[in-house]
Amino acid sequence: MKLTIWGAARTVTGSMHLLDVGGRRVLLDCGLYQGRRAEAAERNRNLPFDPAGLDAVILSHAHLDHAGTIPTLVKRGFQGEVYSTAATADLCRYMLQDSGHIQEMDCQIVNKRRKNGEPCVEPLYTQADAIAALGHFASVPYDRTFTAAPGVQFRFLEAGHILGSAQVALTLTENGTTRRLDFTGDLGRKNFPVTRDPASLPPADALIIESTYGNRRHSEVGSVKDAILQVVKRAYDRGGKIVCPAFAVGRTQGLVSILHDLFNEGKLPPMPLFVDSPLAVNATNVFALHPECLDAETLAKVRKGGDPFGFARLTYITAAEDSRRLNDRPGPFMVMSASGMCEAGRILHHLRHSVEDPKNLLLFVGFQAEHTLGRRLAEGAKIAKIYGVEYPVRAEVARIDGLSAHADKDDLVAAARALPGKPRVFVVHGEEEQCLSLAESLRAGGLPQVEAPLRGQSFAL
Ligand SMILES: [Zn+2]
Repeated sequence: MKLTIWGAARTVTGSMHLLDVGGRRVLLDCGLYQGRRAEAAERNRNLPFDPAGLDAVILSHAHLDHAGTIPTLVKRGFQGEVYSTAATADLCRYMLQDSGHIQEMDCQIVNKRRKNGEPCVEPLYTQADAIAALGHFASVPYDRTFTAAPGVQFRFLEAGHILGSAQVALTLTENGTTRRLDFTGDLGRKNFPVTRDPASLPPADALIIESTYGNRRHSEVGSVKDAILQVVKRAYDRGGKIVCPAFAVGRTQGLVSILHDLFNEGKLPPMPLFVDSPLAVNATNVFALHPECLDAETLAKVRKGGDPFGFARLTYITAAEDSRRLNDRPGPFMVMSASGMCEAGRILHHLRHSVEDPKNLLLFVGFQAEHTLGRRLAEGAKIAKIYGVEYPVRAEVARIDGLSAHADKDDLVAAARALPGKPRVFVVHGEEEQCLSLAESLRAGGLPQVEAPLRGQSFAL
């Protein structure tokens, strides 16, 4: 049996790992690659294997860098099931359609501006393709064993990363030989608001572990609240707009619930909060539908009713003209819009209309991958290139990392060392420096066989 790493190899996006077991092929995650635009377009369009030859996909969670290539897979002939938790399937309903819709809209804009003779650009997939892909989802509960294909059994365990996120414990059987493989997916943090703590993985022969923060230690959640208060208050006092790149469901919930507390405590005057997405999703409903994913404290709040996270303060915007109206609306207010790394979608219009004014604040709360516009802005780029036009960046830029829903170095090392019998470890889903550093820490921690695979590298299990 064989494992091939097709994505998130010394980078954070495009999670995709192929298992060959007894003639069957199962994919762990099927994510969108985000990075340099030409390279991303090529990689996201051309899959390195035949989708029709795959038996199943096991999906760890709904983030696009893990799920965003599923519509392409189905469009190219994939016939099997996509196994995920129920909450992940529900989030994918919104996120994949949103992704298809965004691509259609962006292609329209680019094609409108194209000069004579230039070829039309085509979306990777459309909203209709995304809807077709949703028909392949099969939700399965946490903590029960299922068969993805003959010889490939799996069980989802809580990952504590976002609503519905799972780690995967696999049992692989080929010609009478059995191997156990654990996959962390994206691993969350203990004592983080809303989601449950990550579960401990069962013993395994091999482990695929993420390394987003493989060389970093996080600050405490309490100091994050102060940091948010400071930057948001400054922008409020200037009467500025606060533009926050993020999807409606995900990191924003943490941010909204902190703002809600700050408003209630009287530390920050309340201001309008907009979630601008063509498929605006009422986050409260998605959370309320999945009590199985919530921690005890959140569950108690939900049971009491009311509005524990302040989601009722959010105004959801669907229509394009309402979105455009925000361009001329005087601040202070905050708008959250996708995509989270500023590579596509309505966030680009909000940036276009806000980066040049020093009153405004660009607030980054999510991880920004290398070579994305979000990363360049978060690192202080003086020019923002949006739909081919260059804009000088004069707005304040703030980056708050403490809301990260990823485990840090200490958590990751602890998770790997908790497994008995020194399993072989494959370190993925981290930029080169983070990935290699975690690999080194794991070796130093007593694990003798640690790999930091390159894209396309295969390993006999
Ligand atoms: Zn994630």
